Amino acid sequence: MSVRVVARIRPLLEKEQDRDIIVRADRAEEGKPLTIVKIPSPKNGAEEFSFAFNGVYDQPTSQEELFSAEVAPHIKALFQGLDLTIFAYGVTGTGKTHTMRGGLKLAERGVIPRLLSNVFRRGKKIAKDTNGETTVTVALSYYEIYNDKVFDLLEPPENRTPSGLPLREKDGKTFVVGLSERSCEDLKDFERIYIESNTNRITAATKLNAHSSRSHAILRVKVTQTTGDTVRESTASAIDLAGSEDNRRTDNGKERLVESAAINKSLFVLSQCIDAISRGDKRIPYRESKMTRILSLGQNNGITIMILNLAPMRSYHLDTLSSLNVSSRAKRI
Ligand code: ADP
Ligand code: MG
Repeated sequence: MSVRVVARIRPLLEKEQDRDIIVRADRAEEGKPLTIVKIPSPKNGAEEFSFAFNGVYDQPTSQEELFSAEVAPHIKALFQGLDLTIFAYGVTGTGKTHTMRGGLKLAERGVIPRLLSNVFRRGKKIAKDTNGETTVTVALSYYEIYNDKVFDLLEPPENRTPSGLPLREKDGKTFVVGLSERSCEDLKDFERIYIESNTNRITAATKLNAHSSRSHAILRVKVTQTTGDTVRESTASAIDLAGSEDNRRTDNGKERLVESAAINKSLFVLSQCIDAISRGDKRIPYRESKMTRILSLGQNNGITIMILNLAPMRSYHLDTLSSLNVSSRAKRI
């Protein structure tokens, strides 16, 4: 089981050019890669806090650079049977969806389409190298966790039951009962399914970001390699988490507060799990939330990558500080 916690600082958007930048990427030593995020104390501007990560990606980092550095190196392990889990964590408006989904243009594509594209490419290569003896198939599941309930995103919203899909345990693994799976042949196929099912997401306007999602969206890519009677199965999960903002700042009403309680709890449990995995603890509290339970976080010998998204401006100061404090490896130094 391995875990990497990395930070990505997004650039200022066109409409934000006049803002004060307070978040900086730094290195531990001259010539070493960026691993430190620095931010001033909100109380005493002269004092500065530093947080260490396994890697830090600053404003100019492209989608391709992030993917090549953090995800591409693990595709081989995925095909060797290890599970891969990639989270984007952070306040609404910091670039989680940009990082995971990205834009439509080729260069703007995020981790998810790049992951799929690599998986298809490798699958084809394996089939070719084995003269078709090994076949590789890819199947998708896509669901969201909203108020601690699981909803299938491959199904239209009118098919939802209000209580969501139940979970069941079998052989020590947790399953979502009735979750659909769609087989997927190539990137075009994937994009059609993905775009269509994203319209099935629950979204609610908050003061911070009109299209912000208050749910965790989980894409599961199941890779099955079959050689004669031998079947090898592994999954890559990519998660666009709900915003981690402090809801006192967003003037949230009653409904938002119910959502926030569920979001905060699951994000807290997630950070506890990442923390326990990083420390090499045997006991990982993954059962404490639905999301970590379904992902069996820390229960397999897979690879977990947590990307903390940060906005560089002063207007995010307190939220940035709190997400830096939460993202486990980001120990104050
Ligand atoms: P979140 O999903 O965390 O709420 P978004 O991904 O929607 O945040 O990002 C907020 C805005 O910032 C969007 O307009 C997005 O296109 C832009 N953005 C985020 N990260 C980057 C980046 N690395 N480069 C350019 N624009 C970015
Ligand atoms: Mg988003």
